Amino acid sequence: MALTDSRLQLSANVPLAPLSTLGIGGPARWFVRATSAEAVAEAHAWSADRDVALFVLGGGSNLVLADEGFDGLVLQIGLSGIHVSTAGAETVITAAAGESWDAVVGDAVARGLAGIECLSGIPGTVGGTPIQNVGAYGQEVGHVIDAVDVFDRREQRMTRLTTAECGFTYRMSRFKRDDAGRFVVCEVSLRLRPGAPTVTYPDVVDHLARAGMTVPTVADVRAAVLAIRRRKGMVIDPADPDTRSVGSFFMNPIVPRATYERIAAAHADGGVPSFVMQNDEVKIPAAWLIEHSGFARGHVEGRVGLSTKHPLAVINCGGATARDVLVFAGRIKHQVIDRFGVWLRPEPVFVGFHDDPGVEFLVNIAS
Ligand SMILES: Cc1cc2nc3c(=O)[nH]c(=O)nc-3n(C[C@H](O)[C@H](O)[C@H](O)COP(=O)(O)OP(=O)(O)OC[C@H]3O[C@@H](n4cnc5c(N)ncnc54)[C@H](O)[C@@H]3O)c2cc1C
Repeated sequence: MALTDSRLQLSANVPLAPLSTLGIGGPARWFVRATSAEAVAEAHAWSADRDVALFVLGGGSNLVLADEGFDGLVLQIGLSGIHVSTAGAETVITAAAGESWDAVVGDAVARGLAGIECLSGIPGTVGGTPIQNVGAYGQEVGHVIDAVDVFDRREQRMTRLTTAECGFTYRMSRFKRDDAGRFVVCEVSLRLRPGAPTVTYPDVVDHLARAGMTVPTVADVRAAVLAIRRRKGMVIDPADPDTRSVGSFFMNPIVPRATYERIAAAHADGGVPSFVMQNDEVKIPAAWLIEHSGFARGHVEGRVGLSTKHPLAVINCGGATARDVLVFAGRIKHQVIDRFGVWLRPEPVFVGFHDDPGVEFLVNIAS
């Protein structure tokens, strides 16, 4: 992406809670919205010159922001524009990082393109999707990403990363792991082709079967996924308090087969849902572990609780603080460890916490 002219317009003490789907968090000491790659570079230079921390904000749908706020510059990504080109049977959709992810999915589906239909209804921006390699209902964005154009803060220049260079794994990438904070995503290119939709996930299979759809189109699968997600409170809806969340708070743990067998042996009655992975490992739904550790859907503790529709969504019941969220999520993690010996890992990014022991415990995956 070419660098163009821009002017940096900083604001001070900007409340961040309204910019996050959880609705929690103190102010940003400094705040700027960038609508061009040039403005991204300028914001980086401004923070580097003053030795001020910089945090990149997308749609705020995967964040727990500290009650104290962020003592630095929050750079909100407002880059816009979508470009579509064809290369043989394939179509490349290149979308600027500030575009709505679901609008891009809707556009691809309207063109009859397969590959991201199951990622319908995920909130946030295009630029947020490679960070944790968003996935749902049998698809991951990393499978269709062709390239990610980034501003490299270390090298102070724009560069293009190939899919292999992004290091995508389950809900993870180099952007969230080794190189957290180094790259600002400015554009994402998706390589899609017309074809049959992905129909592998049991919820989607059942939904389509009940509707009598034996040969569903990508549009049918998008509609099915949106309906399933709404039922689970996983599509942002200001009228639905169950959506005041970060989506799934914990990832599904991938455990050695021996751990799975130990848990399954103790629950021979109902069976433990599982998905066999490579290397003889097994993925167990975090939702199942949580529900079997004494936390039912709709469980409330003060101002926080679990969604009435999905045990994986920690919700702000009204007036909750980030501390409330940390304490509640920590209790869930403790109980799952006590009950099953499994260490859940949180999905959201924690911002502004400075070596907080509550956060340290949540992100830690071994004793
Ligand atoms: C109701 C609900 C349902 C959800 N369902 C799913 C789901 O099914 N699957 C799933 O994977 N996730 C899901 N999520 C989580 C979230 O929507 C995704 O992770 C989303 O991609 C985050 O994008 P964002 O723009 O909101 O990023 P933010 O929340 O603003 O930021 C998240 C992280 O990405 C970084 N970031 C954001 N934009 C950029 C950029 N341009 N450059 C560099 N870094 C950037 C931030 O610094 C931060 O570290 C859900 C969330 C909610 C609230």
